[in-house]
Amino acid sequence: MKVAIIGTGVSGLLTAYLLKQQAASPDIHLFDNTAHIGGNVDTRSVDLHDKYVSAQSVRWADMGVNDFNLTTYWRIKELLEKMGFEEGRDLLELENSTSFSTGDGNVSYYINADESHTMKQKLWDEYKRFQNEGTRHLLRDSSTHYMTVEQYLEENNYSKEFGEYNLYPRINGMYFVNQTHPKDMPIKAVMDYYMLQEGFGKDKGNAKRVYLKDGMSSWINKLYQYIGVKAVQDDQLGIYAGPDSVRLLSPQTDETFDAVFFCCHADTALSMIQQGATSDIKKALNAYTYNDSHAVAHTYAPVLPPDRAAWKTYNIYIHDPDEHPRPYTITYVCNRHQNDKQNPDYNQFENPEYFLSLNPHKNIPEPFILTHKGRPVTRNFRHNVLDSNVLEVQNDGTMTAIQGQNNLYFAGGWTMGAGLHEQCYYAAEGAVAMLIYGRTNQHQYYTPGASADEYAPEYLRSRFSEFFDRPVT
Ligand SMILES: Cc1cc2nc3c(=O)[nH]c(=O)nc-3n(C[C@H](O)[C@H](O)[C@H](O)COP(=O)(O)OP(=O)(O)OC[C@H]3O[C@@H](n4cnc5c(N)ncnc54)[C@H](O)[C@@H]3O)c2cc1C
Repeated sequence: MKVAIIGTGVSGLLTAYLLKQQAASPDIHLFDNTAHIGGNVDTRSVDLHDKYVSAQSVRWADMGVNDFNLTTYWRIKELLEKMGFEEGRDLLELENSTSFSTGDGNVSYYINADESHTMKQKLWDEYKRFQNEGTRHLLRDSSTHYMTVEQYLEENNYSKEFGEYNLYPRINGMYFVNQTHPKDMPIKAVMDYYMLQEGFGKDKGNAKRVYLKDGMSSWINKLYQYIGVKAVQDDQLGIYAGPDSVRLLSPQTDETFDAVFFCCHADTALSMIQQGATSDIKKALNAYTYNDSHAVAHTYAPVLPPDRAAWKTYNIYIHDPDEHPRPYTITYVCNRHQNDKQNPDYNQFENPEYFLSLNPHKNIPEPFILTHKGRPVTRNFRHNVLDSNVLEVQNDGTMTAIQGQNNLYFAGGWTMGAGLHEQCYYAAEGAVAMLIYGRTNQHQYYTPGASADEYAPEYLRSRFSEFFDRPVT
């Protein structure tokens, strides 16, 4: 069997990896429109020597994907271990601390890694209640799934203050938020993310958030090497699909495949399919809209909380309540993210202090933008919005139904939840199973029309099983 995979982000590589694991491993061909391997995973070197002469002068920043939660990323953890990454040596705990501040610092508080905090007690109590209750509602009560965040807060008697000064700003720091207002996002999208990435729903200490010693690209490069297929760079592919085979055609490519996996974005896939996009495929892929984000590595402190004591790993900007639209905004203090306090190479230094901002609320002046070999360390990302249309096609069986139509398969992070790496793994696994075993296994991966308890994908159900056994209070 000859298979093409379009997109060399983690989903494309995981699809290739899983195909390679099959007894009759297919002949795998990888394509991408850029030379970069890793998609949203992009570790870049930054030169600090101009800024801090006494410190180590070259360090790195993860521009997009930057951490995993080992407590909930089961499959990714397993795979990392298989590839030789060791917890404590290569997978290192980051400093899991967060600040929330308005631009003028009038509202400013933080939560440290040990959960000591400067939050008002009432707000803290609501935050903890949301952490526990939200997860249980999400898993047990499907009527909450399509509620907006605002409806959920109102229905469960949360204060306006909790929304304005904690939850909405935090949602604004999630990469799949849309440009309208966080209150209009589906609560399920937010809670899914909180559960997987931040370990909500379990007692304190559940989240084991790690960074990779040499940045996220280090594992992607290893995975790519393991697959052992050199990606073809081609930005003009046209896809001609039919019941017998699929032809890939461009000025440089003309090849026929038994199956093609799209691991690029939904709208890109649709624009590439010149022939063979069924009405089901069109309906599914048209549900997606996209946001563009700009990441910049810098040393410009005014995008951080005015009070320096409040600088934490994740710095959440509290937008003005009337501000519309509100783009995705967050700033990382890289030294904290890379847990310098624990690192003997750096812990004697106050510096070098450098930051990574996504869509900073203030323009970063050019002299503060970090460079490497003279080039600014910036990067643009596209990510799908996780709105109610998307949740619907992800969960009502549409995504399952389109797998294999005209030998086309879909496995990007966009096909499952927020597309965190763990979800990319399951999405790839589901799509590969559809190719290898056919449609009979689909219930294992998606649950069309399922009841509340069945609604959550298998991986969430097994991981959070205690919530199914406990009454919602
Ligand atoms: C800013 C940001 C931060 C994130 N942080 C985290 C995190 O900390 N942890 C986590 O688990 N997840 C994180 N995510 C989610 C992340 O997107 C997913 O985990 C994952 O990287 C998505 O991988 P993917 O392969 O599905 O898509 P992508 O990474 O988007 O890869 C798509 C690939 O398709 C290629 N492509 C595009 N157009 C074409 C074309 N015409 N022809 C051929 N190829 C094409 C692209 O070049 C790219 O290589 C983050 C996302 C963003 C945007």
